[in-house]
Amino acid sequence: MSGHVLDEINRCLNCRKPACRQGCPINTPIPQMIRLLKEHRPNEAGEMLFDNNPLSLICSIVCMHEKQCEGHCVLGRTGSAVQISSIENYISDTFFDKMQPELAPPNGIAVAVIGSGPAGITVAVEMARRGYSVTIFEAKDKIGGVMQYGIPDFRLPKSILKRYKQKLESMGITIRLNTTIGNALSIDNLFRDDYRAVFIGSGVWRARTLGVKGESRGNVRFGLDYLSNPGQHELGEEVAIIGMGNTAMDVARTALRRGSKKVTLYSNMLVATAAKRELTYAQLDGAELEFGKQLVEINEKGPVFRDVVFNMQGDSVGLQGDLQQVEADSVVIAVSQGPRRRLVDTTPGLQVDASGFLVVDDQGQTTKEMVFAAGDVVTGPMNVVTAVTDSKRVAANMDRMLQEQINQQ
Ligand SMILES: Cc1cc2nc3c(=O)[nH]c(=O)nc-3n(C[C@H](O)[C@H](O)[C@H](O)COP(=O)(O)OP(=O)(O)OC[C@H]3O[C@@H](n4cnc5c(N)ncnc54)[C@H](O)[C@@H]3O)c2cc1C
Repeated sequence: MSGHVLDEINRCLNCRKPACRQGCPINTPIPQMIRLLKEHRPNEAGEMLFDNNPLSLICSIVCMHEKQCEGHCVLGRTGSAVQISSIENYISDTFFDKMQPELAPPNGIAVAVIGSGPAGITVAVEMARRGYSVTIFEAKDKIGGVMQYGIPDFRLPKSILKRYKQKLESMGITIRLNTTIGNALSIDNLFRDDYRAVFIGSGVWRARTLGVKGESRGNVRFGLDYLSNPGQHELGEEVAIIGMGNTAMDVARTALRRGSKKVTLYSNMLVATAAKRELTYAQLDGAELEFGKQLVEINEKGPVFRDVVFNMQGDSVGLQGDLQQVEADSVVIAVSQGPRRRLVDTTPGLQVDASGFLVVDDQGQTTKEMVFAAGDVVTGPMNVVTAVTDSKRVAANMDRMLQEQINQQ
């Protein structure tokens, strides 16, 4: 056990009302975790963490701890909060490969999970534990969704996702990679093939465009396309990134690590939408920021902007000044994503809202019977812990409704 983690567990005040736990979206039993570690029972702590959150290991790395558990630690009011994420990471990482989750005896009922991001993995684990026969259908050639193809390796080592694949398979979960539901196979085909319920955790993978001339040029990329496989894209020495959210920060940091010399992020607002931590890291890595710039066109030389005019409240009220041509070898547009339409277009009865997100009831059931959904495809772009929390609840509802169906037969 590292000295750091030992120091941290001893700093915990063991509050009667643990604010850290309330600050955690998935209500991680943090005081119990620390107590078990103090009592030298790390395996029990690990089991408890995995039971509560199958993605505990990943959440210990990628969550916004400063806003969640650690942001609520009372010690943080006067000094530094207990480093809860380091403690959780130590336990979950050490325990992960040893642990074999307890599974209920097989009940002979098959369920299909579309997508292997945080939402899909959570539902697969929760249903396998309850005795269901689970098959995950994943469009890409590796599992993990955005954790694999969005969050860069220097923030989340991909070796963790390999370990997850092994763990899922050891739980009897079947994973069909390179299989897009909505191509050769439809959701109705899954029901034909005796899956009794389908879960959709397909995320948001359609890049939002800006509708400006030049977006289809060869010197332009979209953020998630670039992050999916940075080695396939030669961005050159000077890169202009449109957007200042978290995805834009990951693009900037990746480009700088891959040899680009001058990376500038442009926003049409006065503040960045990225988390403070991600923004600070991007700046430390060498990214430059330009605020109040409206992209009006992209040509062979790079992006063209005009200055945004703001009122006293900081709202944009128009554009002013001349066109400003910025010279850049490539332009990356990273201004959020929306859901693809493939599943909706191939599944009669599946409804989406005006923004294209799946409509679900309070059980997580879509407008098609026994088809459930959670994660970004329902909420819009959020974060890992929200996808896990929502999917865990939806898995419990899937189980209950399947059992009700069986009891009625
Ligand atoms: C660049 C970037 C960085 C991020 N960084 C963080 C972070 O640091 N911390 C954090 O908490 N959150 C972060 N997020 C957000 C977080 O990753 C997402 O909220 C989360 O992954 C959503 O999980 P999901 O399971 O709903 O979808 P996804 O992770 O998008 O997974 C969906 C999966 O479904 C598959 N799929 C889609 N359609 C089909 C189909 N028809 N058939 C079969 N498979 C299909 C996709 O290939 C994908 O594997 C980041 C997001 C991005 C874009």
